[in-house]
Amino acid sequence: MSTVSSEVPKVGFVSLGCPKALVDSEQILTQLRAEGYETAKSYEGADLVIVNTCGFIDAAVQESLDAIGEALNENGKVIVTGCLGAKKDAAGDDIIMKVHPKVLAVTGPHALGEVMDAVHLHLPKPHAPFIDLVPAHGIKLTPKHYAYLKISEGCNHRCSFCIIPSMRGDLVSRPIADVMMEAENLFKAGVKELLVISQDTSAYGVDVKFRTGFWNGKPVSTNKTQLVGSLGELSAQYGAWVRLHYVYPYPHVDAVIPMMNGGSVVPYLDVPLQHAHPEVLRRMKRPANGEKNIERIQAWRAMCPDITIRSTFIAGFPGETEEEFQYLLDFLEEAQIDRLGCFAYSPVEGATANLLADPVPEEVREERRSRVMQLQEGISKKRLQAKVGTTIKVLIDEVNRDGGVGRSAADAPEIDGVVYVKPPYEPHLKLKVGEFVDVTVIAADAHDLWAKA
Ligand code: SF4
Repeated sequence: MSTVSSEVPKVGFVSLGCPKALVDSEQILTQLRAEGYETAKSYEGADLVIVNTCGFIDAAVQESLDAIGEALNENGKVIVTGCLGAKKDAAGDDIIMKVHPKVLAVTGPHALGEVMDAVHLHLPKPHAPFIDLVPAHGIKLTPKHYAYLKISEGCNHRCSFCIIPSMRGDLVSRPIADVMMEAENLFKAGVKELLVISQDTSAYGVDVKFRTGFWNGKPVSTNKTQLVGSLGELSAQYGAWVRLHYVYPYPHVDAVIPMMNGGSVVPYLDVPLQHAHPEVLRRMKRPANGEKNIERIQAWRAMCPDITIRSTFIAGFPGETEEEFQYLLDFLEEAQIDRLGCFAYSPVEGATANLLADPVPEEVREERRSRVMQLQEGISKKRLQAKVGTTIKVLIDEVNRDGGVGRSAADAPEIDGVVYVKPPYEPHLKLKVGEFVDVTVIAADAHDLWAKA
């Protein structure tokens, strides 16, 4: 068993397999060295051992399993990486975890980030004066109790009004272990609400073909459903919320809705629909433009009656006829979206939509935008009024002389409404920023709620 506890953390390394595995080993060793870890020459001299495995033929599998067993016996703290880490047996179970359930983490090949995450978790980095000026959760510009978690960069779509893909490129999903590690660091640092963002959250993992990653020693696919499930489990441990933004209405989104009934993944979906008329959506080249959005929204509400749907729309897109606009209004009336933003179309330099025929005059775009907002005002008022008399959980953002200002599961920071909370009657029950409190709703307008603690 490992007994070493020197000031400089030491890592033992066993490298098996082909030249590709050897390169992976070199990269891991280089990174370890760059971060100030030392390499141990023996099991006894190591604080932790990494075994890079091969899974090509039966003999190589056996050799790898033996090497893991030996490292476990001699040292006890073992992280496994390499081809065997990604291999399953006939029953679909992870081979390594079945034979050696005591290993600390298992990753597949070419997984530098995940291996380093596992090392950091089980053998913290040595002190580096310059790097350590930055906390583990990075530098955040949001208040201490909420944070944004970016799961990917770029976008594979080519919406005609948008130039993001030309600036940021195609979708690149972050490894799921990196995302989970960041989430855990944020929760450890006191974050009570994590806002999952990207350009298209539904597409998470498409670019890496939903590659299997590892989190907490268990295989997890790089896809939205497994990510939300894992974040939900983690946030439940820390008594925190997870909120999903930029989700496109594909059928597979249905799988995450039941996860919202437990409370840690809040029943809230930010689904940027932009329009309802099929022809306008086609001209916009919107993802999921063939989906039946009314049916989808109704199905989500049937699965999770408390769900809050947020969306954004564009009024006066080039070529939008009065009939197409009316179709949008009818859709909004039927969909009863809880939180809605509407922009008058504004041509962005470089967007292909600028080349479309029949641009809508600016005053008509503005007028249509205000008609949408007027309609929405009535819908929102009615929906918020229905909450009066109910008890809801609120995360306090601000405390002032009048009590506090917080947000419920239905309110994302900056973009949705707030809940004004009267101070509790008992003087010892003080409202505190970053804490949850159950409140009874006593009044509502078209945007905000008033409540007493
Ligand atoms: S608007 Fe369309 S192209 Fe632009 S980032 Fe969103 S999905 Fe991608």
